[in-house]
Amino acid sequence: MPSTGLHLALTLFFLASCLKDDDFKPALFLLPFGLLSDFDSFIGVHRATLHNLFIIFIPLLLLIILKRLKVNTVKDKYFIFASLLLAFHIFLDAFYNGVFLFYPFSEKSYNLEFWFGLKETGLSALFTWIIPGNVGEIEYVITPSPSVPEIPIIGSGIELVVLIFALLTFFLRFKVNDVLYRREHGER
Ligand SMILES: [Zn+2]
Repeated sequence: MPSTGLHLALTLFFLASCLKDDDFKPALFLLPFGLLSDFDSFIGVHRATLHNLFIIFIPLLLLIILKRLKVNTVKDKYFIFASLLLAFHIFLDAFYNGVFLFYPFSEKSYNLEFWFGLKETGLSALFTWIIPGNVGEIEYVITPSPSVPEIPIIGSGIELVVLIFALLTFFLRFKVNDVLYRREHGER
């Protein structure tokens, strides 16, 4: 699986790019939505229960219900961002070993593949998917065992550098702006 560190890094980049300067608290609130799906390791079927296309629409459904009941105090855009973060997580995983995209209506795991680059024949692109198997046939490993002695949280030096860069981007975006704002307005 793409490591938790990589999911976290992309979530931080996304939030830093689409929220306003003084949105630090909403950013912290939205952060878990980029990581949430992996909790299906503990409840249900990993890469299925919280990694399907339907999960993506839950924040939007919630928004519609709250609007109908006229009890919504949270800005609409935060619900949309929550949905997008869920989607990013699932599609990232789909490109890495695959996910049960249509679970519980289909038991198939979809593993997307993409490649773009130069070959001896010239510029070449590949987009395809393979179906490695069904629920029950493939086990996405969630517990280290003698055959799988480790589960990466940050899988490589590249991921570590990307994560550090993402953390810096995130905190510079919100914290520095926050401090500047307070200074300008004479607050402490
Ligand atoms: Zn995942």
